[in-house]
Amino acid sequence: MREINKIIIHCSATKPSQDIGAFQIDEWHKKLGWSGIGYHFVIRRSGEVEKGRDIAVIGAHCRGQNKNSVGICLVGGTAENGKSQNNFTPAQFQSLRELAAELKRQYPNASVHGHSEFARKDCPCFNVREFFADWA
Ligand SMILES: [Zn+2]
Repeated sequence: MREINKIIIHCSATKPSQDIGAFQIDEWHKKLGWSGIGYHFVIRRSGEVEKGRDIAVIGAHCRGQNKNSVGICLVGGTAENGKSQNNFTPAQFQSLRELAAELKRQYPNASVHGHSEFARKDCPCFNVREFFADWA
C-alpha cells in the first residue's frame, strides 16, 4: 500500500439539479484521456458514498499532491447561474465527516485539505479547514 498523508476534498463543479455520481465522472475523465475516474470517492447529492479509483492506486485530482493523497469529490459546487457555490446537502456533509473519520482511522497521519489550498481554484467551494476545525 502507498503512503497516505493527505485527504483532499473536491467538488464536481456541477449544479444541484445534476444528480450525478461516480459512473458519470468516470465517463468524463475517460473523455479527458485518463484511465478513468481520478477521485477515490464520490459523495452524491443523496449523501451516498460511491467508490471511484481504488485507494491503492494513485489518483488524478490534485496536481503535485496525488502520490500520497486520497481524493474525495462532493457532487455540486456550482449554482444554477454557473457561479461557484457552497450548495452541498446536509447528507453530503454528514457522509463527508463519516468517510473522513474512517480514513483517519486507517491513515492516522493524514491531514484534511481543500483542493483550493493547492491550486488557484474555488474547489470545493467551502472552507475545509473550518469544517474540520474540531479535529485539531
Ligand atoms: Zn478539485
